[in-house]
Amino acid sequence: MNKSLPPGWRVINNTGTWSAPAAPPDSGSDCEDGNPLTEEDLRPDSPGWEDVEEEVEVASIKCLICDENLDGARKMVIHCMEIHSLDLDRIRKEHRLDFIATIQLVNYMRSEVRSNNTITTEHLVSSPVAFRQDRFMQPVLEDDALLYSIDELANPNDPEDPLAQKSEDGDVEGGAEGVGEGSGHRIVVERALR
Ligand SMILES: [Zn+2]
Repeated sequence: MNKSLPPGWRVINNTGTWSAPAAPPDSGSDCEDGNPLTEEDLRPDSPGWEDVEEEVEVASIKCLICDENLDGARKMVIHCMEIHSLDLDRIRKEHRLDFIATIQLVNYMRSEVRSNNTITTEHLVSSPVAFRQDRFMQPVLEDDALLYSIDELANPNDPEDPLAQKSEDGDVEGGAEGVGEGSGHRIVVERALR
């Protein structure tokens, strides 16, 4: 008789007391609180999430010397080196050309080429005064994409390149406003870790 009772039940009546065996301790709880994902795991900045590589739009850059268009400023630098023996990295490095000076260099070269003058690495290295002039802040080409990609002219092999120095305003401390749900939790965690 007691075998037919549901687990854990006990019956007491005038014929006696029957008890069914207790239910196994962990049965029935799987779906209730076994979800291993927490809110933390579902946030895109949690560990385990990979940043999807940003689709960087590559500007078409007209060569400083010829009419060829190249995919990005860096490729243009390599093209100038290989095709025209013009070493932009060396010119820039020799005089530690910063953002402004590089713009002047670009516009100077554009105007020289427009006037059919020959440009050589040696000339630019030996006489930077030629291009270090305010008037070369003025774009020579209309909508010169290179002028919007000056940063890309930074020499990747030269950590001292002035163009490679990141501006300081990138990391603003705080940024608590506008963060989504769960940020409160995160702030608590961060405080606890300090
Ligand atoms: Zn070219």
